[in-house]
Amino acid sequence: MKYHHAFAVLGRHLGLQDFQQLFLLYHFPRVPTAHLERAQPLRRRRAFLQRLHKLAELSLIRPDGEGWVLSWIGTGVVNWRLQEQVAASPSDIPEPRADENGTHPGPPCSDYRPAFFSPGFCWCCRPQSEHPGELVRLAEGLIRSQSGGGA
Ligand SMILES: [Zn+2]
Repeated sequence: MKYHHAFAVLGRHLGLQDFQQLFLLYHFPRVPTAHLERAQPLRRRRAFLQRLHKLAELSLIRPDGEGWVLSWIGTGVVNWRLQEQVAASPSDIPEPRADENGTHPGPPCSDYRPAFFSPGFCWCCRPQSEHPGELVRLAEGLIRSQSGGGA
């Protein structure tokens, strides 16, 4: 396996249904557990609750009010999965640093690494234009498009 950061390693231990449930909580945080459970087909409710416990034991989610929210690392696991899904080529995907999860702002950064799940933004959560070298690159691209594509 090429990627060794925590999000990739944790993600390899999750099955498709684990991910589906993590995505559900990513998009619908704090929805009461009882409501989420009732939304499941009857035969899947027990497995749904067991999976909640599994995700909590892995520290990917934590209780919040009557429902759940993703932890910092759980958010990173989902963002990494989205990054892999959106990437044009699986061989070389921009990666987060150890203190970045793609949703919560990371430390100062001057090395733009596109977060494909959040177009125009870096894994550090800042826009491309806030990375020193990238501003020049964006300007050069604009000049090229105006002179090259000319009217
Ligand atoms: Zn950055």
